Amino acid sequence: MPELKPLSSQQVRCPHCGAIADRYFLDISQFSEQLADKNVSDNFVTRTVCDHCDYLMVLCSKSDMVLEAYMAGF
Ligand SMILES: [Zn+2]
Repeated sequence: MPELKPLSSQQVRCPHCGAIADRYFLDISQFSEQLADKNVSDNFVTRTVCDHCDYLMVLCSKSDMVLEAYMAGF
């Protein structure tokens, strides 16, 4: 997997544990392989990562389609 280069980032509350998590905005071209078989008009994806509970969520910015999700304990 190529290294992901965030366009920008912000701090958000983790929706899972409520701690401070990092949200990165990524160009969707970095996910072109995962999206090859889907009709996606989004330009960006958001990647939310929480170090406290191992929460990970990758979403298309417009359609909210989940590309990748991980929660500890589920
Ligand atoms: Zn968390």
